[in-house]
Amino acid sequence: MALSRIASETDVSIQHTFASRYVRDSLPRFRMPANSIPKEAAYQIINDELMLDGNPRLNLASFVTTWMEPECDKLIMAAVNKNYVDMDEYPVTTELQNRCVNMIAHLFNAPIGESEAAVGVGTVGSSEAIMLAGLAFKRKWQNKRKAEGKPCDKPNIVTGANVQVCWEKFARYFEVELKEVKLRDDYFVMDPHKAVDMVDENTICVAAILGSTLNGEFEDVKLLNDLLTQKNKETGWDTPIHVDAASGGFIAPFLYPDLTWDFRLPLVKSINVSGHKYGLVYAGIGWVIWRSKEDLPEELIFHINYLGTDQPTFTLNFSKGSSQVIAQYYQLIRLGYEGYKNIIENCQENALVLKNGLEKTGRFNIVSKDNGVPLVAFSLKDRSRHDEFEVSDFLRRYGWIVPAYTMPPDAQHVTVLRVVIREDFSRTLAERLVHDIERVLHELDALPPKNNGEEAKHAREMKIQRSVTEALKKMVLASKAKGKTTGVC
Ligand SMILES: *Cc1c(COP(=O)(O)O)cnc(C)c1O
Repeated sequence: MALSRIASETDVSIQHTFASRYVRDSLPRFRMPANSIPKEAAYQIINDELMLDGNPRLNLASFVTTWMEPECDKLIMAAVNKNYVDMDEYPVTTELQNRCVNMIAHLFNAPIGESEAAVGVGTVGSSEAIMLAGLAFKRKWQNKRKAEGKPCDKPNIVTGANVQVCWEKFARYFEVELKEVKLRDDYFVMDPHKAVDMVDENTICVAAILGSTLNGEFEDVKLLNDLLTQKNKETGWDTPIHVDAASGGFIAPFLYPDLTWDFRLPLVKSINVSGHKYGLVYAGIGWVIWRSKEDLPEELIFHINYLGTDQPTFTLNFSKGSSQVIAQYYQLIRLGYEGYKNIIENCQENALVLKNGLEKTGRFNIVSKDNGVPLVAFSLKDRSRHDEFEVSDFLRRYGWIVPAYTMPPDAQHVTVLRVVIREDFSRTLAERLVHDIERVLHELDALPPKNNGEEAKHAREMKIQRSVTEALKKMVLASKAKGKTTGVC
């Protein structure tokens, strides 16, 4: 289903640039051309048009991996013609996905015996993983309610208002009410106390986020586990926890191995992670891991006898490429624990460089935490003349894609800019970005304010801010004489 719109009525044909060397007629835009064109022309036309896309490396909006090693690129290209679902024909690919599931389950401290296999599956991303985990919770809850002779037609799920949109999708598609804990002015993640208050007998699970999409902050899963254990004891329910570790699942085990957020907590029954975020694979791979066989209802598993042997599967789709699974296996064995730790630590250091640079301008409040996903979320201290959306717009002129967005209720009056630090975002780029943000601020300062009434007040505040900035600059220059650490990228 294509939900795209036609750009304009008159844009009915595509004009070529260099392809005019091969073909002279323009191509219709929305209808299949009647005739073939030479392969060189097709390549040239598409290549020229794609030049207008943003540069993925400068796309600071996204967590998704934009660079892999050439050796891995080779493996990916060699596997593009393998359908993942043909497990009988490509048993090695199936074996590699099973190895990945087991490695990730161990990374998340799943209680599996030496000779036991982990329960989990590779998906297209965390969204599919979350649909599957949600379905398992819903079915388990329904089965239990039916066995008790109680109604099971009003399931709900408790999350923070900061959840990623895929939870709303799950709720709508699979008819589960989404009960959201509201945020506060100074607290942008789910409050475990409030979440547990919202739990009732129809709650299929509480979903905590390890690495809120909005500011990278880790939710307190341990506290949630403790409070929910207490509530379960009092009520006789056994409401479980799912951890949406889409971005944090490949951060916490390396940066904060002592943080208990995973299967070490008894109520955590399933965890999802995006292989294509800090799992360091190109877009198209995610994982969901269950604590044990008992947490994945047997009736959701399809035993397909496809072209040969029996294969248990639990996915929302059927055919898909094999490359992403192979690429994930490549990263796991190529980098190992040591390699992931180096890369993630380096991201964290670059996030700090950016954060310090932004603080030095004196113009921003930092709303991300030092402990969390390596990203920097920040908002303007003074938005009486210009706001974060204008900063974002102006940064585009320098090639940077930095999104600005408002927080969900009840913190919707807070607007933030967010820069995600990926492996390919080097220290040089971090310094360059600070420099360009300073230029943008100067440009905005020179423009007439959006809000005239505030001008005088603003001028006074600006004067104070400038003196603070000067003082900070001196301090930082003095401390710069000390050595720098070097990273891996
Ligand atoms: C990115 C993200 C998702 C969605 O993941 P995809 O892999 O893009 O499908 C879900 N939850 C959180 C917290 C995320 O950051």
